[in-house]
Amino acid sequence: MALTALLSVSDKTGILEFARGLHALGAQLLSTGGTAKLLADNGLPVTEVAEHTGFPEMMDGRVKTLHPKIHGGLLARSDLPEHVAAMQQHGITRIDILAVNLYPFEATVAKPGCTLEDAIENIDIGGPAMVRSAAKNWKDVTVLTDAAQYAAVLDELKANGKTSDKTRFACSVAAFNRIAQYDAAISNYLSALDEDGTLAEYPAQMNSTFVKVQDLRYGENSHQTAALYRDLFPAPGSLVTGKQLQGKELSYNNIADADAAWECVKSFDTPACVIVKHANPCGVAVAGTAAEAYSKAFKTDPTSAFGGIIAFNREVDGAAAQLVAKQFVEVLMAPYFSAEALEIFKGKVNVRLLQIALPPGGARPWDQGRNAGDSKRVGSGLLLQTADNHFLKKDDLKVVTTLQPSAQQLDDLMFAWTVAQYVKSNAIVFCGGGMTLGVGAGQMSRLDSARIASIKAQHAGLTLQGSAVASDAFFPFRDGLDVLADAGATCVIQPGGSVRDDEVIAAANERGIAMVFTGVRHFRH
Ligand code: 5GP
Repeated sequence: MALTALLSVSDKTGILEFARGLHALGAQLLSTGGTAKLLADNGLPVTEVAEHTGFPEMMDGRVKTLHPKIHGGLLARSDLPEHVAAMQQHGITRIDILAVNLYPFEATVAKPGCTLEDAIENIDIGGPAMVRSAAKNWKDVTVLTDAAQYAAVLDELKANGKTSDKTRFACSVAAFNRIAQYDAAISNYLSALDEDGTLAEYPAQMNSTFVKVQDLRYGENSHQTAALYRDLFPAPGSLVTGKQLQGKELSYNNIADADAAWECVKSFDTPACVIVKHANPCGVAVAGTAAEAYSKAFKTDPTSAFGGIIAFNREVDGAAAQLVAKQFVEVLMAPYFSAEALEIFKGKVNVRLLQIALPPGGARPWDQGRNAGDSKRVGSGLLLQTADNHFLKKDDLKVVTTLQPSAQQLDDLMFAWTVAQYVKSNAIVFCGGGMTLGVGAGQMSRLDSARIASIKAQHAGLTLQGSAVASDAFFPFRDGLDVLADAGATCVIQPGGSVRDDEVIAAANERGIAMVFTGVRHFRH
């Protein structure tokens, strides 16, 4: 018996070759309007669904395939005599193969300026209904929902005249997965609308829908597989909205580090440069120009900066590009690159240049009331939280020592606090003159982070005399503070809140340190 195949696709990629292959195997082709036209225009014999059912497509395509002749043909079980009899009685033809891809809802709503009406019209009704019918009846029907499946199914049909149970079951699972993903996109989109039906500027949804951007060569290590997904509605100014201008493909680690650098550099209003290695800033600075900011950031830790991920919140001009080009750099990010800068990097074909727009209306995402979610896998579970969007203002600070910080010290402390937010805990950050002087990151004790930060400053030949220090969480004992004082620090910013705050404050007074409490901490794991 000849096979019957129903093809109804919005994305016509590969469908012609698939239809040709089916035709060569003697299959009868059934199709909806647009798909039928494409096949007929290419010389394939095809019957329109409207002719098959005796009902025209109507209501702007809202009703095309919603007919018992279609759904009976997909749902009838060949192993039940009653089903076979019903088909005969009602003149229903079995549909053996169904290829459907749906109205492009996700792509439509991802376009800027998409109206509610556009979105609603791009909700496919008949397509998912057919896919469900076919997927439920997988023992009799092969359902294809992705062009990537066409070739293998065709090969199997050529070889055996039918598909295996294994293939049909796998296709059914893939079909239900696709429907679930499609419905989730619709549900997320509609849930993100304001009461008046307009899309909130950035829907702060914890259970966002993700769209795959690309497969990555491998994950954190070469034995791991990986892919990059982005939110259906990415926050303006986020890394995934960037454009790669040149260089090798971005790796998993490149993207993770680039995100850390970009999030940090976005926090500054003045020209800033952030150099990241293994997810931690190893140099951060603000200055009058991008080139100066880079020079200062590099000085913090020239050894670690090798192979770094570098982010600017201003245009990379010729002067900055010339300096950066002297070092081995993996990824360079900025809102703009001047023509001269692009020319300088043209010869360095491996350097990945990423152009990312800053969020409109201000560098700090939290200034715009956004609240993007943060997630982390734990075993077979998922931890969700709102992002660490706390933005400290000078007025929030509480001076707890007899010594008051000077205006200059307050500026240094605010800078140090901003950097500490992006350093893995336990974080200790020595700063001065708008640059990091020593960064202690990711240690299991605050004391060790303090020691490491001070050792690193020594190695880089920097003095910590008169420096300002940020600690991402409180000091549990006075010993950490003593290490800072021994190194030369004269002011400290920290959350406070330890049961031994009194001991730590007394130590600060004793050592001639001005200390302020923020009341919030910035653990980062
Ligand atoms: P075509 O380009 O062939 O005219 O239309 C193909 C699209 O129509 C496919 O995306 C398919 O999922 C969709 N489709 C098929 N039947 C129906 C139906 O009855 N209602 C709606 N809304 N869409 C349908």
